[in-house]
Amino acid sequence: MVLEVLRSGGGGPARARNVGWRHARTRWVAFLDDDVLPESDWYQLLLTDLTIAESEGQVGSQGRIVVPLPADRRPTDDERVTIGLVGAAWITADMAYRRDALAAVGGFDERFTRAFREDSDIALRLGADRGTVRTGVRQTAHPLRPDPGTWSSVRQQAGNADDRLMRRLHGPDWRARARAPLGRLPRHALVTAAGLAGLGGVLARRPALAGAGVAGWLLGTGELAWARIAPGPRTAREVRRMVVTSAAIPPVAVWHSLRGLVRHRTAGPWRGLPDAVLFDRDGTLVHDVPYNGDPALVRPTEHARDVLDRLRAAGVRVGVVTNQSAIGTGRLEPEQVAAVNRRVEELLGPFDGIYVCPHAPDAGCACRKPAPGLVK
Ligand SMILES: [Zn+2]
Repeated sequence: MVLEVLRSGGGGPARARNVGWRHARTRWVAFLDDDVLPESDWYQLLLTDLTIAESEGQVGSQGRIVVPLPADRRPTDDERVTIGLVGAAWITADMAYRRDALAAVGGFDERFTRAFREDSDIALRLGADRGTVRTGVRQTAHPLRPDPGTWSSVRQQAGNADDRLMRRLHGPDWRARARAPLGRLPRHALVTAAGLAGLGGVLARRPALAGAGVAGWLLGTGELAWARIAPGPRTAREVRRMVVTSAAIPPVAVWHSLRGLVRHRTAGPWRGLPDAVLFDRDGTLVHDVPYNGDPALVRPTEHARDVLDRLRAAGVRVGVVTNQSAIGTGRLEPEQVAAVNRRVEELLGPFDGIYVCPHAPDAGCACRKPAPGLVK
């Protein structure tokens, strides 16, 4: 088995997964989170899952996630987020997709820059809500994370912006189709409005408005804090943390939601990179020397090397398609053209394929461009 580490240069899990699957040349690509523990028979059971998925014509196969619970206490608010992964639909903590299906939809939508909703988005684009993804028998444990700090629950509110992108891309019924419950956003909006009304009342010296606003805000914030404290371990630290963050969460959630509404207001369907790019040779990758049969005369064009390397780094396949009618008309021997192509490959390769039409223009072949033979 070969382990190859690829670098996406940042941009979040959607971009990282795209770099990964594009480099893969297998029919199926399995994704795991970096903090999961696949069970010892995982690989064998993955083969079983994929065999069944193939026979049923599905494009995805999801593993079963288990989260070991703390033995001696109730889970904290942060831990309950991880526990929520159990039974969540189409999460990439353990998910395999057919590579050709990923390529057909351009891969993961890189406008989802956090580990949030990028998995539901691609699942919907691959038809998971219509039964194209099955849950397999393989099992993966997702351990509880180490304490992510006081403000983790507040930072997570950034996901409200991603929800706006989901709404824009998948329409008003996206939550039902993605099995993503609405949650508390409407209540957060009410609490925030009450807080603003109270603040406005204080500033405008209108005691009735100030009193009603502050009372509403306190009531709403208290309810949120209790809803998060009640199921937890109720230690002094957890209670303190829930009180502080429950004051911050409603306005931050509303802010991210509005931010997402503005940012994604014109977002269109995701168009990822192509699966392959085919280049002409003469005048495109190398300077044109008419009827060249001499490898010594091959000179790359200015940006050819950069462009090819960037495509390769992204996992996009690169090929050359070239008309060499000089072979068909007798001006060059096939070996001369092959020698020039070897030099092109030395200077600009490796290529995933170099395809040559050797026929004369009047030969009526199916491969001389613009006929599609070489591309096919
Ligand atoms: Zn041809």
